[in-house]
Amino acid sequence: MIVTRFAPSPTGLLHLGHAFAAIVAFQGGDDFVLRIEDIDSARSRDHFIEAIFLDLKWLGLSWDEPVLRQSARMDAYRAALDQLEDLTYPCFCTRADIAREIAGAGDAPHAGVPHGNKGFLYPGTCRTLTAGERQARMAAGEPYAIRLDVAAAAALTGPLTFLEHSRRYAVHPGLFGDVVIARKDLPTSYHLSVVVDDARQGVNLVTRGEDLLPATHVQRLLQALLALPEPQYAHHRLILDEDGRKFSKRNAAVTLKALREAGATPADIRARIGL
Ligand code: GLU
Repeated sequence: MIVTRFAPSPTGLLHLGHAFAAIVAFQGGDDFVLRIEDIDSARSRDHFIEAIFLDLKWLGLSWDEPVLRQSARMDAYRAALDQLEDLTYPCFCTRADIAREIAGAGDAPHAGVPHGNKGFLYPGTCRTLTAGERQARMAAGEPYAIRLDVAAAAALTGPLTFLEHSRRYAVHPGLFGDVVIARKDLPTSYHLSVVVDDARQGVNLVTRGEDLLPATHVQRLLQALLALPEPQYAHHRLILDEDGRKFSKRNAAVTLKALREAGATPADIRARIGL
């Protein structure tokens, strides 16, 4: 039985790009689950969650209850973080520290901009702090994120692969550098929450936009470290605006709410996104 999911962040109204992702997931599974990715409490809003339910129902989608809300899952993320403890280190760097270190090393910032990486790889500044230095800085109340020591993690798992559209690809665990797995304000990050919750919800086919394909490398590594089941992946094309860019809050006219209020039917939406 194939279980797929749609996992929006409630930070705005759903638009045509979301409709495409949701319908692809819905059609691709025998079971379809919903997850509200609201770990970012500063940007998430309850009224956007209500709007997500309304829009998806209007599109004719139905999902298994209960809907999983990431903001209620901090204990599960903390437990996963504890499991990874030997492979992680606290990072006290600010964005400015990291930029300075990269500039000082004479390296151009990486231009690839994998999703969530803000355009550069962390140079590993805090990896080499001594246990004493770490303790002193924690005791002084300095805020810190938790990073995964990716080289150590990859050495532990050995080579990994992931299955994308039924083909196997090699995992490049270092693609994002020593990725943040717990933000300064939370016991988790995007990557950690996603793997813990995909497993919790029994998702065995992850469908999502191709802009998230690079994230699969990190997520597969985390699954292996946490001994979670390996889902299959099927990344899909993105629905772009007239300028070839991803839809965003700029595109108020293509929110499902606006289109509905302008008289569009669910069939019109499907026709417009080619589904
Ligand atoms: N919540 C993420 C987003 O809105 C999607 C996460 C995922 O599909 O892995 O882009």
